[in-house]
Amino acid sequence: MVIYARISDDREGRQNGVERQEKQCRTLADRNGDEVVAVFVDDDRSAYSGKPRPDYIRMLQFLRDGKADGVLALAPTRLYRRLDDGLAFFKLINEGRLAVETVKQGRYDLSTADGRRDALRAAIDAQHESEQIGERVRDAKADSMAQGLYRGGPRPFGYEADGMTLRTLECPQCPAPDGFSVDRECKACGAAAVNSPGSEAWHLEKAIDAVPAGESLRSIERTWKELGVRTPERRKRQPDGTMGPPESRDWEWPAIRKVLLRPRNAGLMEHDGEIVGRAAWPAVTDESRWRACVAVLTNPERRTSTSTARVWLGSGLFRCWCGAPMKMSTSGATKTQAAQGAKARPTYRCSVVVAHATRDARKLDAYVQDMAIERLSREDAAELLLPPTPAEEPFEDLAAQANALRTKLDSIAADYAADLMTRKQMLDATALTRKRLERLNARMAERTSGSVLASLPLGTPAIAEQWTRYHLDKQQAIIDALMTVTVNKGRRGRPAGFKPGSSDGYFDPDLIEIDWKSPA
Ligand SMILES: [Zn+2]
Ligand SMILES: [Zn+2]
Repeated sequence: MVIYARISDDREGRQNGVERQEKQCRTLADRNGDEVVAVFVDDDRSAYSGKPRPDYIRMLQFLRDGKADGVLALAPTRLYRRLDDGLAFFKLINEGRLAVETVKQGRYDLSTADGRRDALRAAIDAQHESEQIGERVRDAKADSMAQGLYRGGPRPFGYEADGMTLRTLECPQCPAPDGFSVDRECKACGAAAVNSPGSEAWHLEKAIDAVPAGESLRSIERTWKELGVRTPERRKRQPDGTMGPPESRDWEWPAIRKVLLRPRNAGLMEHDGEIVGRAAWPAVTDESRWRACVAVLTNPERRTSTSTARVWLGSGLFRCWCGAPMKMSTSGATKTQAAQGAKARPTYRCSVVVAHATRDARKLDAYVQDMAIERLSREDAAELLLPPTPAEEPFEDLAAQANALRTKLDSIAADYAADLMTRKQMLDATALTRKRLERLNARMAERTSGSVLASLPLGTPAIAEQWTRYHLDKQQAIIDALMTVTVNKGRRGRPAGFKPGSSDGYFDPDLIEIDWKSPA
């Protein structure tokens, strides 16, 4: 008999798995009184990936040559992970009248219809199983994934062309440092490195922090354009088929969004849209800060910050007394009023019922802004508006826990690959670990995504100066975090002295209800 053993993941220590497979097969051979004439071992080759299994091929030849009369393996899945592999294998053992026995499923008897059906079924199951888990968990990790190495491609923004070196780190202490570790430590003095001001990594870090602080992608686009931040250079194919010179372009917000969402920014490895572990390159920023940014960018309820049309603070934000959001209406004057010389005035209207609340937009915006600025610059603003610092573990601990869970997912897959657990155990353990990981991720995102107010100079007069410089999206995010603005029903009739269509729009602060929100 020959023994065939296969390990499907090459992480360190997996060699034990092969030794264990061989040992169990030898025990089986002893029990059956079989002599083991050869042992064939393939390391790190999932049959499903279609990669060659050199020892498997040697074994088939060995059997074809009549040098042994059968095969022992731990389980059918060790022998084949694809139906066509299985069929070829069955053909060989049928023709050669060879014996096949596995530790887990006993002897194959291909001389009967039932035996052949069972063997086929085992091959089909193997393929199914392999498709379900093998491809993603195993193959990907088998290569560079397991080591967290960069898999090549165009230069990623924020990194050198090797994909592993940040562009650019500097040591706050050494003027000419001697490189940095993957944990962003200066190799010379051990200090924590910082992204060099003005470098790609620095701009990326700023943008990742700006998003949870209420900045829009368009405003980041504008800032980058102003500062001359451009895309990595690419060669474009010319009409004549040759490659043109390397060119870079101004960033556009959809591309910025994609770049910000990259797990690589947090030093994480991604495969098929899923984070599979720690990467071997240094992160642009902390995982928790990156997650806060991702949470905002991927939240479907986030008011879209990509429209150029909206320039009014209260659109979709202020409420009519009926509860519906108010929208901007450009037709402020009726025909009659227009005939009397009135101009259309920007006006908020109930978005549901035309006859409901209407208000002069400029006045209402100005009123709400004044209220907000006053509140934000009060001395006790930080105390009143920010949630108390949670006495929970710091971000780094959460990120470390998340990494531990990812490593655990790896080892579950590896244990399953080495037949140390059943399929059900593997699926249960994976589901449980994933759930814990999701909860952790949500907590990390939560911790920083509510920080729009935390990013302001609360309790200082600087708020008033800075307010007009904030992009509209940020102003809206601030108002939204601070208060609910409701426009109440006007009194019967017009206020004294009010003339329809006069330049002095209808506005009574008493009818504006402001509900301050308490810190989340
Ligand atoms: Zn240093
Ligand atoms: Zn209404």
